[in-house]
Amino acid sequence: MSSIFTKIIEREIPADIEYEDEDVIVIHDIAPQAKHHLLIIPKKEIATLDDIDETNEYILRHMFEVARTITRKKGISQGYKAQFNVGKDGGQEVMHLHLHILSDI
Ligand code: AMP
Repeated sequence: MSSIFTKIIEREIPADIEYEDEDVIVIHDIAPQAKHHLLIIPKKEIATLDDIDETNEYILRHMFEVARTITRKKGISQGYKAQFNVGKDGGQEVMHLHLHILSDI
């Protein structure tokens, strides 16, 4: 079954999309934990950070490149948190890799 983020990527359910390219989508979190709360999500469905290996690790570099671009564009690049929750015991609820970007600037 597709993850909720795949459903967003495929436009089966709506989301507030901030940015999109061939490999990632960036959306606003539906339940923001800060003034700015973005999720950087690879289009390829990788469950958790623990599922990264040499075949897909390029996506992490791209996710951080996108983080730099988006935070500069939004004027929050001087102060934000970038967080992965990893696995159920790490507080991850959606088993589709995503990087939280949180800023109160
Ligand atoms: P995590 O606990 O790290 O798996 O984070 C999942 C995040 O996805 C939470 O912060 C949720 O608020 C967010 N989320 C869940 N469903 C949606 C949705 N439909 N649109 C935007 N964000 C969502």
